[in-house]
Amino acid sequence: MTSVSLRLRIAVAALVLAIGATAQADARQARNVIIFLGDAGGLPTLNAGGILAHNRPQSLFIQSMPNIGLSDTSSLDRWVTDSAAGMTAIVTGNKTNNGWLSVVPTAGGNAPAPVKTIFEYAGERGLSTGVVTNMPIWDATPAACFAHVPARSDKDMIFRQMLAPRYGKGVDILVGKGRKDADQSFARQGLTAERAFTGAGYRFSDDPGALTRETRRAAILRDEDFAALPTVEAAISSLSRNRKGYMLMVEWDMHTDDPDKGLRHVVEMDDMIRRVSAIAGKDTLILFVADHSFGLRLHGGVRATPLADQYAAAARQPGATRETNAVIGVEDSHTGEEVIAAASGPGAEQVRGFFPNTRLFRIMMDALGWKADR
Ligand SMILES: [Zn+2]
Repeated sequence: MTSVSLRLRIAVAALVLAIGATAQADARQARNVIIFLGDAGGLPTLNAGGILAHNRPQSLFIQSMPNIGLSDTSSLDRWVTDSAAGMTAIVTGNKTNNGWLSVVPTAGGNAPAPVKTIFEYAGERGLSTGVVTNMPIWDATPAACFAHVPARSDKDMIFRQMLAPRYGKGVDILVGKGRKDADQSFARQGLTAERAFTGAGYRFSDDPGALTRETRRAAILRDEDFAALPTVEAAISSLSRNRKGYMLMVEWDMHTDDPDKGLRHVVEMDDMIRRVSAIAGKDTLILFVADHSFGLRLHGGVRATPLADQYAAAARQPGATRETNAVIGVEDSHTGEEVIAAASGPGAEQVRGFFPNTRLFRIMMDALGWKADR
């Protein structure tokens, strides 16, 4: 072997080692974070939804995720949270009062103070951001990501802040319901929703098909349901063009005041997480979290026949209601017990044991290697 070829071999070997070391370092740091938020997706709802759909226990993809923790969901002023305070804790690391969106009380009765959300940190750092929900885009869970308002019902202020963010450049990809609400709200400012969003640099449509890999900023608002998986995949293909990374929140409503709908949504979101886990890179922290639990319980059923059949039969019994259904019964309210957080990817190992919901913010910030402003 000549000394030139030996030196070349040594150089190549060193390069391979260096690349290996970089890949290893990168593997510990997340470039992207995706939060799948099952609204009211407590453990009893996951349990019933999974068995109903697959007739096997622990058959959800969520139940196969490598890291699981138990998150307290109490708010600052109540043992049982609403979605506003629940999501504020997750995206800002601060507990607040029920009904408040990413603002916290201040001393001496002064005006509530805004607290920066992880979506705003991401925007300021040049990442792309997305919020996809099967609820109205101004509703508490999505709104806590980008608005700072002490009343979740203040639709006009939430729409205003969606387009005039306090921090950063605003959410790049917005998909949800509430098209009529947007039209009514912007009409009060003498605008149409289309003019307001277009003026703020968004591609505006009611068709999720308008969201493509080439879309940089888009607001897809409609009042009808939309197909979950293609929409989320389109959002990811758009967001992932940003080399700095992206932050995406997908909310699927799992309230079981209508148990058929809520339990169907469990399976829709679970299928979404299975698919996204297969396509998202190794540098993506994927979290499934719930903002609070709900009063649904699996009460009975034999294993010999499909649970779905027994559940439907129980509903046909004289006098039966969804509340008293002997197979899956519902007490129609949020409940206060811990919910699971499930995680995979860089930083996921921090999701373990019992912890407050505010920890989820820190877990995401740590995974990204970021420090919160103080
Ligand atoms: Zn909720």
